[in-house]
Amino acid sequence: MTRYSGLRLLGHALSGHARWPRAWRAPDPKPSYDVVIIGGGGHGLASAYYLAKEHGITNVAVVEKGPIGLGNTGRNTTIVRSNYLFPENNHFYEWSLKLWEGLEQDLNFNVMMSQRGVLNLFHSDSQRAASARRGNSMRLNGIDAELLDREQVKAMVPLLDYDNARFPVFGGLLQRRGGTARHDAVAWGFARAADARGVDIIQHCEVTGIRREGGRVTGVETTRGFIGARKVGIAVAGNTSRVAAMAGLRLPIESHVLQAFVTEGLKPLVDMVVTFGAGHFYISQSDKGGLVFGGGLDGYNSYAQRGSLPTVEHVWAAGVAMMPCLSRLRVLRQWGGVMDMTMDGSPLICRTPVEGLYLNGGWCYGGFKATPGSGWCFAHTIANDAPHRFNAAMTIERFREGRAIDERGAGPYPWAQ
Ligand SMILES: Cc1cc2nc3c(=O)[nH]c(=O)nc-3n(C[C@H](O)[C@H](O)[C@H](O)COP(=O)(O)OP(=O)(O)OC[C@H]3O[C@@H](n4cnc5c(N)ncnc54)[C@H](O)[C@@H]3O)c2cc1C
Repeated sequence: MTRYSGLRLLGHALSGHARWPRAWRAPDPKPSYDVVIIGGGGHGLASAYYLAKEHGITNVAVVEKGPIGLGNTGRNTTIVRSNYLFPENNHFYEWSLKLWEGLEQDLNFNVMMSQRGVLNLFHSDSQRAASARRGNSMRLNGIDAELLDREQVKAMVPLLDYDNARFPVFGGLLQRRGGTARHDAVAWGFARAADARGVDIIQHCEVTGIRREGGRVTGVETTRGFIGARKVGIAVAGNTSRVAAMAGLRLPIESHVLQAFVTEGLKPLVDMVVTFGAGHFYISQSDKGGLVFGGGLDGYNSYAQRGSLPTVEHVWAAGVAMMPCLSRLRVLRQWGGVMDMTMDGSPLICRTPVEGLYLNGGWCYGGFKATPGSGWCFAHTIANDAPHRFNAAMTIERFREGRAIDERGAGPYPWAQ
């Protein structure tokens, strides 16, 4: 693998950047592999990378129906954080954040990781109590968290509507180590590093069936023929139910659309990620100057990667309530991605009832930050046929056994997620 460095960049600049080698190969599928990962998003590529790096399993293929990284990986709003309440989640997300902190060196790829801080606003005494509880839980588990009062928040983000009659800002919970990373670069970085360790990344190859014999997986049917595999991992995000159904599995997952928006470029306006506590709205500013923001789900089950207008209006209304100056801006781009929503809002990284078939999914709207941790834990689970302690609770059985990881406190109700 060509090592990227400042010196090499300079050398290639002198030759007009015409001689860069391909970042990863475009191999034809082999007849069989030790492991086939379905889905070339961040999670699938990270899983393949860590299978090779941590477990020495390099006879691996990632099969992707389109080009890599054009699913939710390249559609999200790039927020990275580990500010979760329950230990089942916060140890996992903190491990993921630690991997993010060393990821660029590990992959030798600039993913533009920017630990600019994530600030969750609160607007009432009861919300302050909930934020304090969350912050305490984080700190007890060794994760950074700071409870800020209104004046401290004002000093950091002066342009919020502090005296909004309905939603005055009381303060915020800050995680300074949170921030953003460039989403599609994460897919490219993992792809390049996995390829260098021998992983085959097979694009434009859709999985159409999962072949089983005697309760054991034997490979996948694809648009480029049958590919045999001792083990198969599903990492297809919004398509999880569809692909799992190919192996006869019915999952506690619904697919919903989530939208994102980018405005025209501006001079620096917000230098951290800020989330509104009185409506679903969050915002950050990209390095190019556009404000990147999003809100809640569209609320209709769909596999269409585009959103509906009522949600556009709803998200904007919440944004303007939080930061009135946004009303003067033009939105340049808007798109949607398909979310695999579990009934408790927490993910699945686990074995399945089919031997040799493993599941990574249910990421809801929070899977980007999980990318390295998810790949790392999924690789561990596939290699050892058993979970790591970080993902031990992220099973399908938890729904049958009544052990939901109800992070949002909304109960296992799809309409409340
Ligand atoms: C608008 C929006 C904003 C978001 N914001 C954030 C955020 O700020 N922070 C955060 O942490 N998370 C965020 N998320 C969630 C996050 O993007 C996802 O949870 C995460 O990207 C999902 O994992 P992935 O990257 O592997 O998915 P994907 O990139 O969707 O990868 C799955 C891949 O599987 C492929 N596939 C599907 N079916 C098949 C098949 N049959 N055969 C072969 N390949 C198949 C797809 O083509 C796709 O490339 C957001 C999501 C959206 C849509």
